[in-house]
Amino acid sequence: MRELRALSGIGVKGPACFLLSIGGRNLLLDLGRGPDGMRLPDLRGLPPIDAVLLSHGHVDHTGGLDQWQVIGAPPMFATRPTIALARQQPLQRAIPLEGRDEILGLPLLIGRAGHGPGAVWMRIGGEEGLLYSGDISRESLLFGHDKLPKAAALVLDCSYGDAEEPLADQIDGLTADADGPILLPCPAGGRGLEIAAHFLTGGRRVAICKAHRRVARILEDHDEWLTTRGRAMLESLATADELAPDSPLQDVMIAAGPNAERGTAKTLAARIRREGGAKMVLTGHVATDTPAEAMLAEGTAQFRRWNVHPTLRQADALVCEVAPQTMLAAFCDSKALAALEARGLWPLAYGKRLLW
Ligand SMILES: [Zn+2]
Repeated sequence: MRELRALSGIGVKGPACFLLSIGGRNLLLDLGRGPDGMRLPDLRGLPPIDAVLLSHGHVDHTGGLDQWQVIGAPPMFATRPTIALARQQPLQRAIPLEGRDEILGLPLLIGRAGHGPGAVWMRIGGEEGLLYSGDISRESLLFGHDKLPKAAALVLDCSYGDAEEPLADQIDGLTADADGPILLPCPAGGRGLEIAAHFLTGGRRVAICKAHRRVARILEDHDEWLTTRGRAMLESLATADELAPDSPLQDVMIAAGPNAERGTAKTLAARIRREGGAKMVLTGHVATDTPAEAMLAEGTAQFRRWNVHPTLRQADALVCEVAPQTMLAAFCDSKALAALEARGLWPLAYGKRLLW
């Protein structure tokens, strides 16, 4: 019997953490934290963990790695870009996933998930096993994606629930928003570079912060993870100006962190809240108790999503590709989950467990 248990990530936006028991092995898929507050998965009562597999480096998938010793310091696997970008000690020493067709004797297949630097989907246990999408997108201009293989069970990124708005419409909206100085707080390891490259190729002047420059530099060594167009976009980033906390407020400014909770975005957003001088637009998940949440509430920032997860139409296509017997819709709140269940189109299991 094969079993997948969601320790976290069902009925709520993250943190991601799943226990896969298959072929006599216990694997932990992601070990996240947040993204709201410092929420951690409940790791009590786990069986001995044989390995941890990480889908990508975002904090809601890896931020719980300070618990790695607590779970017995098992071998850890991640992709090379994820390892190269890692700031946490154990992840910097992870074993690369690329080039492997097995893990602890279990058949393994991975592919690009199109969500961020080195983000992968993984199938463990062959066609009779589990496909874990991690965070996944088919719309990225920058990050390449690979078709999903068939699998008996599926855990699918449903972060946007039944939202349908395509990225192309969002890009048109954001381009119209940028009619003067604009600050876009973004995660450096995600859509920030993509947004920067979009404006640069449209002839706009763009400045990016130190954290974004670091990711761009590392991506140069891993361009097999990019779309064909993405390789040219990455080159265009060399023409971006440097954005510092004391830079003048002008043109398109892209800075980390995404909730203006740290880094250059924190300082610049505080300046703009005090003195004005630029629009601020938030493009991703707005975490609770952050400056971004306060900025939205007081009206100094507006929200316009830039998709990095599947729309409903894409999610339908992904489910078709995998053709699972059973599945979980992950990373959306309980209301969105109920809407997905009400459609009755997917073989969704109730609760937080898959048995097959
Ligand atoms: Zn992510």
